[in-house]
Amino acid sequence: MALGPPIQQIDEAVVPQRRARPLFLGLPLSYLHCQTVNAEQVRLGLGWNRCFSGKSGVSSRPRIERTAGQQEAAPMAEYTNNEEQWPDGLWEEWGDPPPDEKRCQFQPARLIARCGLPAYDAGSESGEPRCLFHYEGEDRDPEELRSALEAAVAKRAHLWRANLQEADLTEANLQEARLQDANLQDADLGYANLQGASLDGAELQGADLRGAELQRADLGGANLQEAELSDANLQEAELWFANLQGADPRRANLQGADLGGAKLQGANLEGARLTGAVDLRGADLTNARLMRFELSPEAKLDNVEWGLAAGKMLRDEREARSKEPLYKMAFAEYEGVYRQIKLSYQYSGDYHRAGQFFIREMECKRTLLRFRRPVPEGRLKALWDWLSRGATRALWCVSYHICRHGEDPARLAKVMGLVIVLFAFIHSLVGVDGTDGDPIISPGFAMPPWADLLAQMTKAVYFSVATFTSLGYGDMQPVEGWGQVVAMVEVSLGIILVALLVGCVIRKLSR
Ligand SMILES: [Zn+2]
Repeated sequence: MALGPPIQQIDEAVVPQRRARPLFLGLPLSYLHCQTVNAEQVRLGLGWNRCFSGKSGVSSRPRIERTAGQQEAAPMAEYTNNEEQWPDGLWEEWGDPPPDEKRCQFQPARLIARCGLPAYDAGSESGEPRCLFHYEGEDRDPEELRSALEAAVAKRAHLWRANLQEADLTEANLQEARLQDANLQDADLGYANLQGASLDGAELQGADLRGAELQRADLGGANLQEAELSDANLQEAELWFANLQGADPRRANLQGADLGGAKLQGANLEGARLTGAVDLRGADLTNARLMRFELSPEAKLDNVEWGLAAGKMLRDEREARSKEPLYKMAFAEYEGVYRQIKLSYQYSGDYHRAGQFFIREMECKRTLLRFRRPVPEGRLKALWDWLSRGATRALWCVSYHICRHGEDPARLAKVMGLVIVLFAFIHSLVGVDGTDGDPIISPGFAMPPWADLLAQMTKAVYFSVATFTSLGYGDMQPVEGWGQVVAMVEVSLGIILVALLVGCVIRKLSR
């Protein structure tokens, strides 16, 4: 197709009458993107393209540069359906340009020019001529619609808000179609070629896009709720602020796709490939299925909502845990999902979020320890195996509950406080002696007088802290027998927990 003259050659005289348009065109769907259109671009008619195609500079997307030379240099004439662009052979009776009253009078928005394609119906319900694509009646021939659409797309016709609801467009060639705000609800677009198509703001609810080629397609702000997108190729597609709630992009190729702010609640991303610099900033993935999905470390994950509040898990893991018996493969798979997300956060330096996913990764590993392994030959070896497995599981269990696998030093500090208080109570039961052998706290639980209660408690806590931190006693010692046993246990616990706390804090600080 002709790209039109480069910017420098645009006829200045033509431009002013279209000056005001661009700022209104994108409203309300793409108004965010109009913010970056400056006066100079508006004067050159570039704002129009930016508003509609969503290729503006809201963020530094590499795809902006890719399209810059191709589309932004297009003059305004590109955006009208003039006679040279009419589909061939469909309206052959119009040898000459049809009179104005026989052209489609559909006006996509208040300030956009009328459609201008030859009329299909001279006086439809609205009483004005409408082309085949803007015709609202039910009596269109599906075959005619399909071939007309393919021809119109090939001619680069602008088909804003085209009515293609429930159209059968299986395997249709709609490459670079200009279908902004089109109504494609429940349309059948299986295996269609929509490479580089402009579908921003399009209504694709419940559409069938199985195996569709959507490379570099612009689906910004499109409504893809409940859409079938399995095996679709969405490489480098623009899906920012698209609504994909309950959509099914299973095994879809989303390499380098822009999913910023997209709504993916409950979407089925099983086996989806989110490789390359896929942009998920601000996307909502609550309750999404992520089993077997691929995520590259370069993925941008700032402000992604995973529905993973403290201690919660992602949907597949939650469901896997609610089932009985547990299915080993599910946890092996899910461990990998958490690891990929963790690595991506680590790559971008967000260690707090990485830690959340690390905890879940370790929890999946811990669950895997519950599954049987082949028992080694020989009784002694089997016993040793049983013991070591039991010890590992116990250790991991403790590690999760007291410090969340080292990610939560505050929790560990609380546990330490609890241990000290608990042992203070035990010490006041078994008694504490002074260095001269006289009891400082008498054994046996006897409620001291109220006046002495505080002093007694202070002594017990002091003795507990001194034992826990292996400080050593200058003034107090445990009573013989049980007192010594309790002290030994507390000293051992203290050494382990203090070492753990140091480890946790250093781990946190060294990042
Ligand atoms: Zn029309």
